[in-house]
Amino acid sequence: MFDKKLVMIPGPTPVHSRILNVLSEPTASHVDPDFVMDFKKALENFLKVIRGEKAQAFLVAGGGTLAMEMAVVNTLEPADKLLVISHGYFGKRFVELASRFEIEVEELTCPWGQYIEPEKLTQHLEENKVDAVTVTHVDTSTGVKAPARDYAPIIKESGALFILDGVCATGGCEEDMDGWGIDILLTAPQKAFGVPPGLAVLAASERALAKREKFEPQAYYADFKMWLPIMEDPSSYYSTPAVNEIRAFKEATEIILEEGLDSRFRRHKELSKAFRRGFSELGFSTFTQEKCLAETLSILSYSKGVDDQAFRQGMYKRGVVVAGGLGQTSGNVFRLGHMGNIGHSELVRTLKAASDTLRELGHPVDRNQAVRNALALSTEE
Ligand code: PMP
Repeated sequence: MFDKKLVMIPGPTPVHSRILNVLSEPTASHVDPDFVMDFKKALENFLKVIRGEKAQAFLVAGGGTLAMEMAVVNTLEPADKLLVISHGYFGKRFVELASRFEIEVEELTCPWGQYIEPEKLTQHLEENKVDAVTVTHVDTSTGVKAPARDYAPIIKESGALFILDGVCATGGCEEDMDGWGIDILLTAPQKAFGVPPGLAVLAASERALAKREKFEPQAYYADFKMWLPIMEDPSSYYSTPAVNEIRAFKEATEIILEEGLDSRFRRHKELSKAFRRGFSELGFSTFTQEKCLAETLSILSYSKGVDDQAFRQGMYKRGVVVAGGLGQTSGNVFRLGHMGNIGHSELVRTLKAASDTLRELGHPVDRNQAVRNALALSTEE
């Protein structure tokens, strides 16, 4: 009965039956012409999803952290300067990662739940010359969506490379690689694509690839240059590709393109509001500042007297899995993913489980009202 659990954590997210069907197909040879065609299509579709048709896509067995590492090691050499715009746990990860490679790291931070104002970035870049800037589009620890579109011209003006971590954003909210001038957009399949984890997914601009040409990175598996011939011709070999996973990723991109990018982003926005409206009716407040809210997840603070462990266990018992808070928010919030291929039935099931759990814990709430409010909002907007 493993399929009965509804995974509402901020990744992995529920997997659509079309994607599950593809995953269950017999594993093909990695040089089978049919698979090679699917691999090419997956790369092509990914670039459409991120509006990055001028960029070079990479799909490599691994995960989001490998994609972060590939972005950093291929564009920065020891003693280069990196500015990390950090809005939480995953921003911090860039600091640790780059430090391992003796890159000089500066970090811009702000209180959790807020974002760094673009003016602050302008000022920092006027006073400090850096080679690259990393931005976490949506930080999964704080629910903050960075104003990436506003940062883009500021970074461009400074001459630095722009690396965007879209792990918790791509496919759920707008990203425009070519239009915004992003140099590396990295992401992973297990969030808004709705595919099980297993791939590092990224795209690099011409400028990023040119930087790679200027030095030898401290990498073998993570080296862009080793992978480039495979991305150009997937029938050639470097390291065996994750055959089933790549086919599943291709199917996910087909679903996204069939839905249409604008419709998909609108659905995510509406659903995120509906989830927050429903949970606010149940006494939760959103941890993240209003203007920084992401479409893909919510960080919900408990009302007085609701115990984190007891609440999440109660949800689990009812077949709905939510995540605990990370770092400084641990115990005070839970994290709820609402991205990928989900809709109203997941919304209703989650709100029902939360209402029943709260009632069991001695907090009387109106389940029907929460569901009604949530659904009303999502259809009106
Ligand atoms: N960046 C962000 C914003 C993330 O949310 C995550 C994973 N939660 C990662 C990077 C790392 O991805 P992975 O766990 O696949 O290595």
